[in-house]
Amino acid sequence: ELEILAQRDALTGLYNRRQFTAMAELELARSERIPGGIALLMVDLDFFKRINDQYGHPAGDEVLRQVATLLSAGVRSTDLVARMGGEEFIVLLPHTNLENALAVAEKLRKTLRERPLLVQGVQLPVTASFGLTWLAENQKGQLPSLYAAADQALYSAKHGGRDRIEVAMPDLAQA
Ligand code: GH3
Ligand code: MG
Ligand code: MG
Repeated sequence: ELEILAQRDALTGLYNRRQFTAMAELELARSERIPGGIALLMVDLDFFKRINDQYGHPAGDEVLRQVATLLSAGVRSTDLVARMGGEEFIVLLPHTNLENALAVAEKLRKTLRERPLLVQGVQLPVTASFGLTWLAENQKGQLPSLYAAADQALYSAKHGGRDRIEVAMPDLAQA
């Protein structure tokens, strides 16, 4: 029970940031020897503050729980899904090339936008913006440079109009 408390986010049951970082470091170390490359996807809900403002904080919490379930259901069991904090989630896709990672991101984006969440008897449309980055199998990269690239891509997705995916490549000189 203590282990679960330390590793999981209390609201959604997803891995918390600390646990995700530890597991992602391991996957990165392994990915240097396993073909396919590795992708990192940051997911931030669009205009989430409005949901809290319009429907209340408990409704916002329920949205976060349902989004967590949809994200987990939308990826493979070997992928890692975590809540970074607030209304931001992160997904690590090991052994995944860029094309497949983009397809996963697009599937998640569509799942969210095409299925309004049912919260307290009200249908709430929710969209998210996605920042994707990727490391090829022959590239050495460190988690901070992947976070930075995914974050930069997410920023572009927000400023490009939200409900979209942007890609940014990690700065390998930093690695
Ligand atoms: P953007 O499209 O630019 O991402 O806009 P946004 O409203 O989603 O982003 P902003 O960062 O302005 O607001 C995030 C909101 O998320 C504000 C905060 O109250 C809410 N939030 C953070 N954590 C929780 C939580 O655990 N539960 C609930 N209900 N709301 C939360
Ligand atoms: Mg947001
Ligand atoms: Mg945010």
